[in-house]
Amino acid sequence: MYDDRVGEYLSRFEITEAAAAFLSRPKQLFSGGEFVDSGGDEVLEVPEPCTGGVLAVTPAASEGDVDRAVADARRAVDKGDWARATPAERERMLLRIADVVEEHGRTLAEIESLDAGKAISGCEVVDIAGSVDLLRYMAGWATKIEGATRSVSVPGEHLTYTLKEPVGVVGAVVPWNWPFNMGIWKLAAPLAAGCAVVLKPAELTPLSMLYFAELCQEAGLPPGVVNILPGRGPSAGHRLVAHPDVDKVSFTGSTKVGIGVGRAAVGNLNPVTLELGGKSPMVFFEDGEVERVVEATQQSVFFNTGQVCSAGSRLYVHRSRYEEVVEAVAARAADMTVGDTLDPDTEMGPAISAKHREKVLDYLRLGKEEARLVCGGGTPEGPGFFVEPTVFADCSNDMRIVREEIFGPVLAVAPFDTEEEAVRLANDNEYGLAASVFTRDISRAHRVVARLQAGNVWVNTHDLVDSCMPFGGFKHSGIGKDLGPEQLAHYVETKSVWVAV
Ligand code: NAP
Ligand code: MG
Repeated sequence: MYDDRVGEYLSRFEITEAAAAFLSRPKQLFSGGEFVDSGGDEVLEVPEPCTGGVLAVTPAASEGDVDRAVADARRAVDKGDWARATPAERERMLLRIADVVEEHGRTLAEIESLDAGKAISGCEVVDIAGSVDLLRYMAGWATKIEGATRSVSVPGEHLTYTLKEPVGVVGAVVPWNWPFNMGIWKLAAPLAAGCAVVLKPAELTPLSMLYFAELCQEAGLPPGVVNILPGRGPSAGHRLVAHPDVDKVSFTGSTKVGIGVGRAAVGNLNPVTLELGGKSPMVFFEDGEVERVVEATQQSVFFNTGQVCSAGSRLYVHRSRYEEVVEAVAARAADMTVGDTLDPDTEMGPAISAKHREKVLDYLRLGKEEARLVCGGGTPEGPGFFVEPTVFADCSNDMRIVREEIFGPVLAVAPFDTEEEAVRLANDNEYGLAASVFTRDISRAHRVVARLQAGNVWVNTHDLVDSCMPFGGFKHSGIGKDLGPEQLAHYVETKSVWVAV
């Protein structure tokens, strides 16, 4: 149950009865199709970022809870309704879950907005609607997983073919910046393939996936197919990704933690998908359109308080347009409506936690020493973990605000003179998650796209995502893809079959 600070906040807004009832209910873990108590006695105090109050208390899964959930998932893939489900039945189940999520969309958006400090305006249409779309997209793949016949040349007569099988039990760990959306990113493809998933949400944001667990029950998902374990990374998270009875590990989070997760997975010779950090460049050429780059900054580095892995957080501008672009992006940033996340007019909410805001503020102090502050740079008066949308100009690639992932609403702008230089500056970073190019010259656009070291590249926009477009990083931004048929392939194992005829 929430504390007085959250109670006062909630009294100023209207939320659905379902959201209010959910927030008031005691929380449990979801394992084997039921809500269960933890075997341990640790809890998570879930913060509400606009007030700094406590929104809810959930159990923190113990290592024993992880073992139980993995066993529940194993039973689901080995025997029972899910193991026997036909592809068409899996498709219908995913479509049913999508319908139930859509029906509860407003409630989910409110829970997510409160838990993750997301502006409700973007939460319903991006986080929840995007998740519904992905469930439906992956539902369609369930009936289209195909092996192949092969014509071998060894002596004798043989029928040879490949069988495609679900990889089995998936251990998934997600971060706090898109708690619901990332959760569904980790669930939809494995379910289409016939796997079962144990998912650990971030400790700061476990609520929307717990609500989703209730929706799985409502949709009639067989027990053990989806298991949701709020818990801490180093204990429950590590136990899950290092678990000997998990068959595939899928992680989204920071590069530092991701490298450890990768090691743990490989320790069991398990395949692993890692969606990690970024410091993504935007390159604006002399013929670029200013409105487009302004909109792109609003969609990425100033969306979700800049807590966006693929945020365009470094902007390189051709010197002939430099001051014009700096002024335009800063004017729009300074004009953003920052405030209460449940207010429909709010464009940007607070940072996720006091600790994370401190990290962002450290970078703001550094930026003021190293570069030219154009707008923002501080914190508004009042409670909550708010940070002003901030633009620094006259940056260079040796500055820490240009090299490191800040994960806040902070844009660093620098000039360049030639295309060659722009490409070199854009690629000069350990990360390779995303990049964008702003130009009206179609030849230059494709030439530069081909040279950018990034897994997702946009032209004249930034941070568009669609269920059918694979999303993943190069370099230190990760391994493997989420979304699209490329993701589905990570959850399907190939068996080669030989029949001597
Ligand atoms: P994080 O610290 O790496 O945490 C991510 C998740 O890993 C959390 O659930 C965390 O649990 C858990 N964890 C921590 N230590 C662990 C361990 N030893 N073993 C297993 N799990 C462990 O990242 P974050 O700060 O929450 O999220 C921000 C990062 O995510 C950024 O770097 C961002 O770029 C990245 N991200 C990437 C993508 C992408 O698609 N590439 C998308 C979104 C975010 P706790 O909650 O207990 O810490
Ligand atoms: Mg929270």
